[in-house]
Amino acid sequence: MRTNTRKFLLVLFILLLAQLACNLPVRQIGPISIPGRAPTLPDLDSRLQMENYSAWVRKLSGAEPVQVGGQPALITTRYSYAMFTGQENARAFDFVLEQVRQWIPEDQIEVDEYPYTDAEHTYTWKNLIVTLPGKSLPDEVVVLSAHLDSIVVREGNALEAAPGADDNAVGSAALLEAARLLPQYRFERTIRLIWFTGEESSSAGSRAYIQDHPINNIVALINLDMFGYDSTGDRCFELHVGTNPASDAIGQAFVQTIQQDGLNLHFDYLTGQATDRSDHAPFWEVNTPAILVMENFFDDGIPGGCAGVDGTPFYHRPGDTSETINLPFAFDITRAALATVARLAGPLD
Ligand SMILES: [Zn+2]
Repeated sequence: MRTNTRKFLLVLFILLLAQLACNLPVRQIGPISIPGRAPTLPDLDSRLQMENYSAWVRKLSGAEPVQVGGQPALITTRYSYAMFTGQENARAFDFVLEQVRQWIPEDQIEVDEYPYTDAEHTYTWKNLIVTLPGKSLPDEVVVLSAHLDSIVVREGNALEAAPGADDNAVGSAALLEAARLLPQYRFERTIRLIWFTGEESSSAGSRAYIQDHPINNIVALINLDMFGYDSTGDRCFELHVGTNPASDAIGQAFVQTIQQDGLNLHFDYLTGQATDRSDHAPFWEVNTPAILVMENFFDDGIPGGCAGVDGTPFYHRPGDTSETINLPFAFDITRAALATVARLAGPLD
């Protein structure tokens, strides 16, 4: 009897543990409710200037000099190995940080150091994180991310020249405009802007972020990566949404923004065929609602979507310069991304 009771209790205990293990790791976040018609943010769109945006892209990709720490510099590469070893031609992280400090209080800026280990060494690399606290729902976070780092492979030397205008100065520039403009408004939810690095090294920065930050408060993440090439002028790009219903809500909000704001943009809406080749993917792996915005890079044959493929032929090559991309196209996608972030965060002004 006694033994049986013990056995029974043991089985019960094991069942309880199994139940706990099943429930523990994944918190399913439901789609957040998005107003059918977004409250308009006065002047956000008119404060976004094509010249400003283009200047960020040119500066980040070495087409125009910058000032860092009061000294002139030319950013010819943003290769993580070059940015974080103090190379003079790779001061993109310091440059972006210096810009952000003009607009954002220090306690809302985080320089997030993380270890990166390759076959030979362990290095210290950094993500840059800006947080704009929400007024009424501060524990719900809307993330806009882009990778700052660049690379060249098979051609050239990434330590010397990896301009990465398309991949991904266009996204890093969008975040700079977000950091400059969004603090001028108030939102229900918290907005977080993240410049990841190490993306070209197995998404090291976004994986590190997931390791050392809470992620179950992220209600939406929009990742911008490589959306400036459009040789045909069809203004068609890709929304990589995936199959999570909560991610679909973000994708739908993006589409509504394009339609409502009358932006002349077209897209492939990718669910089952969505790519995992950027920093949104580690978030998908932990069930965080996220989408990726990219040019028409993949041949996916979505009915009513982009015709053929039109990805940059300079992908991961020294020719990925600001002259080879369509800046007005990238700028309009940036407008859509910022308006969607504002919409998801719930504008109060
Ligand atoms: Zn990229």
